[in-house]
Amino acid sequence: MVFCENCGTELKDDDVFCSNCGNKIRHTSKSHKNIYIALILTFFITGLGSIYAGNAKKGLILLIARLAFAVIGVFIGIFLVLSVLVWAYAFYEAYKDVQIANGYSNPKLIEDFKGWDQNNKIIAILIIIIILMFTVSGCYSLLTMNSHTSSDPDTHYYVSHSTGGSSSGSSSSSHYGGVDDSPHTIAKNDPDWYYDHYDYGDYDDIDEDLESQGYD
Ligand SMILES: [Zn+2]
Repeated sequence: MVFCENCGTELKDDDVFCSNCGNKIRHTSKSHKNIYIALILTFFITGLGSIYAGNAKKGLILLIARLAFAVIGVFIGIFLVLSVLVWAYAFYEAYKDVQIANGYSNPKLIEDFKGWDQNNKIIAILIIIIILMFTVSGCYSLLTMNSHTSSDPDTHYYVSHSTGGSSSGSSSSSHYGGVDDSPHTIAKNDPDWYYDHYDYGDYDDIDEDLESQGYD
């Protein structure tokens, strides 16, 4: 994509004059930065898109903010959400830095958007939707993580069935990624695996449950 230095209108790569304002186009292809590369880099490493576009300082600030919020978030949950928001915001900064690197001095996403052709508008909308989906789902899963213990049916099952002292059994395996690897949950989700690791009689209530479902 090439943009008029004067008015920001999107132009074809081989245009000599701007179709909107008539400004002569300087083709500074040596510093041409690809917006898609910048966005993909930003997706994986916050701030890397800005660094790619030549704004290393801003890119590093975004990256450090993202990491710092994530670390603080281990102790204060809301910072995890801030970390996700920094990730999302970094795409906007990467867009601006790419435009500046390509010679467009004053990028404004919403006004620029109006000057794009229909295909680029659709692509931009899709990219924004994807970023928003990741942002919302990321924030949602982080916000619901803390209240998980009261809403998760597996946890209810475990709590209501466990008798004092048996909670130490949860240290034995990572079969369920440490989410909830109590024998009761395992038996409920994967009875075959349960029988591979526990003997008949270890948990009478589970044995009864599984027998009633046809396992032995
Ligand atoms: Zn122009």
